[in-house]
Amino acid sequence: AEDTFTEEQNELVESAAEMLYGLIHVRYILTNKGMSAMLEKFKNYDFGRCPRVCCSGQPCLPVGQSDIPRSSTVKVYCPKCEDIYYPRSKYHGNIDGAYFGTTFPHLFLMTYGHLKPQKPSQRYVPRVFGYKIHKP
Ligand SMILES: [Zn+2]
Repeated sequence: AEDTFTEEQNELVESAAEMLYGLIHVRYILTNKGMSAMLEKFKNYDFGRCPRVCCSGQPCLPVGQSDIPRSSTVKVYCPKCEDIYYPRSKYHGNIDGAYFGTTFPHLFLMTYGHLKPQKPSQRYVPRVFGYKIHKP
């Protein structure tokens, strides 16, 4: 009997294994141990910084827009402007958002409340020849 897998079967096993790992990961990062591992990464700017100038390099946290796998790729959440962005690194851009989930950054900031920054005080003001544009 043939006991090796076909290429198609191998791909199925690989993608099932990846999804299983991802689903374990999303549960893990919500545990105390997982949170403190993510805290170290956050302190190292592993998830990048907010691209908005007014956020002055605020470190971001990973977030999913959905908890259902294969809905969308992972995004980064800025705790300062409270918006989400595409991650800068191409590698991060290919990871499934459900492997981080919709809850993580918000539970993280509830757990480590001292890391929640103040909202940005400045806002970018568009000007033409130095004058603010008046909206009609
Ligand atoms: Zn920001």
